[in-house]
Amino acid sequence: MPRVSRALSLLPLVVASAVFAADAKRIAVTIDDVPAASATAISTGETARLNEQLLAALKRHGVKAVGFVNEDRLLVPGHVDEGIAVLTAWLKAGMELGNHNFGHVGLWQSSREDVEAAVLKGEVFTRWLTREHQAPLRYYRHPYTQTGRTEADREAFETFLAAHGYTVAPMTIEHDDYFFACVYDHLGAPHEAARRQTVADEYDAHLRTSVRVFETMSQELLGRQVPQILLIHANRLNADTLDRTLTTLAELGYTFVPLDEALRDEAYRLPARASGRFGPSWLARWARAQGVKLSVYGQPDPEGRTAPWHAQLCSR
Ligand SMILES: [Zn+2]
Repeated sequence: MPRVSRALSLLPLVVASAVFAADAKRIAVTIDDVPAASATAISTGETARLNEQLLAALKRHGVKAVGFVNEDRLLVPGHVDEGIAVLTAWLKAGMELGNHNFGHVGLWQSSREDVEAAVLKGEVFTRWLTREHQAPLRYYRHPYTQTGRTEADREAFETFLAAHGYTVAPMTIEHDDYFFACVYDHLGAPHEAARRQTVADEYDAHLRTSVRVFETMSQELLGRQVPQILLIHANRLNADTLDRTLTTLAELGYTFVPLDEALRDEAYRLPARASGRFGPSWLARWARAQGVKLSVYGQPDPEGRTAPWHAQLCSR
């Protein structure tokens, strides 16, 4: 995920937390880049274990998540069966799978025609497996949550998606997990355990800050708490911390709901224009489409010790 425009002011947050406490808060969990995204080399064995950890945490918290698949990540010569087994494990765990296209092709860098081809190329295994398990294949998550360069492109692409039975899966909360995950991936050695723990702790703190920001956006735009949709990725960091993330969300007052339930909220019918290059929270898209000014448009940049480590380990 590219960086979106960030918090202008965190001032309303203190007031906000008291106000929101009374609301029934719901959240759907979506996990992108299944089977796995990693900044460093990852074996199919580790990918399988990582997904087992994710699924165990989801089950422990009674969460029915949607995993968005990049089928190109399955095509490891000699190990395709292991990739298929990961998708099967998701379905057996009662989770849903969606399409995130073949090659993680975004609607900024690539043409609409190329992305449409990647959608169809990216559903081959998933279509077969979901049929086998009598599970639906109904959601599409745009890579980088880029919904198009222009309105005409966005509309044409969404018409294409609908014609192939796909509903767009929006997201309202993301908290830079790819940023923390890159550092975490690079700190894999046993002697780095203490630094890994610091990253995990700062990641949890960043979740709490980010959730407050998106709650503020919802309150300012809609006057209430929308059922939020969390976007995280299938990576080592979330494998190790998803249990904690879900505990934190429950602690913040959230009940977990499936994506289809969240999407039934009328807010998800609001217009959202083509994202262009940066794919912010749908809360920001709705506000922009309506010309409503919010005090914040997304979470603040990650700080703490992870930020300099990221500069050191993850800069290109
Ligand atoms: Zn992705």
